[in-house]
Amino acid sequence: MNRRTAVLAAIVAFGTLSIVVSARQATPQGPTAAALKVTTIEKVKDNLYVITGSSISVMDEFSGGNTAVLVTDKGVVLVDTKLPGWGKPILDRIKTVTDKPITTIINTHTHDDHTGSNDFFGASVETIVHENTRTNMMKMDAFKGEKATFLPKRTYKDKLSLGSGKDQIDLYYLGVGHTNGDTFVVFPSLRVMHTGDMFAWKALPYIDTSNGGSVVSHAETLRKAVSTIKNVDTVITGHTPVLTWNELSEYADFNNDFVSWAREQIKAGKAIGDAAAAYQVPARYKGYSVSPNPQLGDAKANVEIVYKELKK
Ligand SMILES: [Zn+2]
Repeated sequence: MNRRTAVLAAIVAFGTLSIVVSARQATPQGPTAAALKVTTIEKVKDNLYVITGSSISVMDEFSGGNTAVLVTDKGVVLVDTKLPGWGKPILDRIKTVTDKPITTIINTHTHDDHTGSNDFFGASVETIVHENTRTNMMKMDAFKGEKATFLPKRTYKDKLSLGSGKDQIDLYYLGVGHTNGDTFVVFPSLRVMHTGDMFAWKALPYIDTSNGGSVVSHAETLRKAVSTIKNVDTVITGHTPVLTWNELSEYADFNNDFVSWAREQIKAGKAIGDAAAAYQVPARYKGYSVSPNPQLGDAKANVEIVYKELKK
């Protein structure tokens, strides 16, 4: 997938053609001035920084997902590399906090707003992903032919630990969700976790069924993350500002409530369109919206997927 199709994929899920057209115009190629301006490096804790991503609420500012930057004794570890064309801006921002070389890239999942600038850092950087994500990346034009050299060389199945002490990183695969290869990246000594797009924004998730994603499993996997992973207080999400562990726990509830709601709609014999039109964010979820961009439509895509899954 190229950057346009990634943006399109996100948008098609939510609907309207007019937004699709404006998205094409807003990001013809390379970072826009508006996106560069809002993409900053911020300290999270000690040796960990985040190069901010953006929501898709302002398309002209879209740079891709949040990039975590861990400065270890051996070099810099990146989690996610934004859209294609963002390698140089990412490196420029890293240089404001360290002169160490980039040694490792971890991609939380396959989408090109998280893997798009892997190639900028060269094939000698060790790139690590879940095994299903590597398979998904092989289907992308960005990693075909000569560019296959940029495919991750290291994969894991359930859990992988890298480094030790203040540099330790634990990768967890806890099941299907946004795709079938989402990694939770934990920095245990800092009590921080990067969720990738398992938690992209405080809204219904974009679920990529073409890469094995599932609405029902996404909710279950989030609940598993909350019960399995210990001693984290700070959460770097796919696209929002840094949040807390309690907000992740709340997001797991929000998604499980959505699945329960959908089950009720099916039981009541509601058609997909009627159910989607009637869906409202429950009152207890303050600051949530149905879609990450109010212009991008309603709950229809998620209702369609969850109906299909629950009716099986
Ligand atoms: Zn994604």
